[in-house]
Amino acid sequence: MEEVVGSCQVCGKTVYCMDGFLDGVNEHGKLKCFNCAEDSDKKED
Ligand SMILES: [Zn+2]
Repeated sequence: MEEVVGSCQVCGKTVYCMDGFLDGVNEHGKLKCFNCAEDSDKKED
């Protein structure tokens, strides 16, 4: 079962919640897909 949570604030990709597991991250109220979350982690390093 998957449920649309919203769109990635960076790339606009739809982020789903699958079986209670979020297909992305929610940082300070901004929804991001895993790809964009990883990119921002690399930039901060
Ligand atoms: Zn994204």
